[in-house]
Amino acid sequence: MDFLADSTGSRRLSKSEALELLKNASPIELGEAANSVRAKLHGDKAHYAVNAAITYSNICEALCPICSFSRKEGAPGAYLLTADEVFERAKAFSEKGAQEIHIIGGMYSKLPLEYYLDVARAVKAADKNLNLVAFTVSECVLMSRVSGKSLGEVIDMLLEAGVNALPGGGAEIFDESIRKKISPNKLTASEWLGAMQVAHEHSLRTNATMLYGHIETPEAVVDHLFKLRGQQDKSGGFKAFVPLPFRKGASDIESKGSGVYDLKICAIARLVLDNFSHIRVPIPHFGDRMAQILLNFGADDIGGTHWYEEVAAAAGAMRLNRTEDFMRKTIIAAGFKPVKGTSNYGV
Ligand code: SF4
Repeated sequence: MDFLADSTGSRRLSKSEALELLKNASPIELGEAANSVRAKLHGDKAHYAVNAAITYSNICEALCPICSFSRKEGAPGAYLLTADEVFERAKAFSEKGAQEIHIIGGMYSKLPLEYYLDVARAVKAADKNLNLVAFTVSECVLMSRVSGKSLGEVIDMLLEAGVNALPGGGAEIFDESIRKKISPNKLTASEWLGAMQVAHEHSLRTNATMLYGHIETPEAVVDHLFKLRGQQDKSGGFKAFVPLPFRKGASDIESKGSGVYDLKICAIARLVLDNFSHIRVPIPHFGDRMAQILLNFGADDIGGTHWYEEVAAAAGAMRLNRTEDFMRKTIIAAGFKPVKGTSNYGV
């Protein structure tokens, strides 16, 4: 625990130290160190956004064993929104006060690149000022595959169509042996990181996630965080790290999640990821009460109102009436000063 005794922020946490802390430090010890790093970066500010989700389709060919959301093409409940429907939803969300729209869907190889571009254009046609965070790198790589264009070309086209940033999904956990069990048909870790490199080189900023609480080991958690830290050293385009607790939902994989594990993951992430400005703990995933606590364990952002979030909800995440007032009160009650921005942190 030498690092905690010497947590002046003057040196980087090593991989072996991180593993030792994750395995043996108490959540309170970890939380104190992480909170001191957070306080140096953000003082008493905590971020939130007023945003909404548009999930254009739940049809997915990846069939990840961890997923409660996806459907096969033609299965009951399978759907695909048209660009016109995306426009209508974006317009309604904008009129309700959203500043940002998050868009993701499944891996559906029948969709041409033009579909995604039309979806992005539809959001900007509804309100050109909406910050558009759209399409995971997994979807971008699929677009590249179906269109025959390079990933860089696809990203340039998405930028031109109005995409402002990419969400950080699809990272799951980078350890290949675990990844093969929870999402065998997704990008490999190096493909995911390589796609992020291209996105950052093309001036598209992104988030980075980690799905935990399933069958991962402490070693896999630390490996994931160090791979993200290494990628950020190289390309520098990650805005926020977003830990995502796994929920069993309809999947066959059991959840080993717990409140204490949430505290430790958030704190160790803040300590390892010294080159990430923000740690976001989205309220749809953690609930308002745990998000308040995590603001004292390294997080500085409780995410957005995320109206109409469907993916986490399909696995049993909380459905709260997340108004802007609710977000502000949640932050104030935790002892912080609410700062509204989009997830690009353009306050
Ligand atoms: S987790 Fe994502 S990629 Fe995997 S099956 Fe579900 S929607 Fe598809």
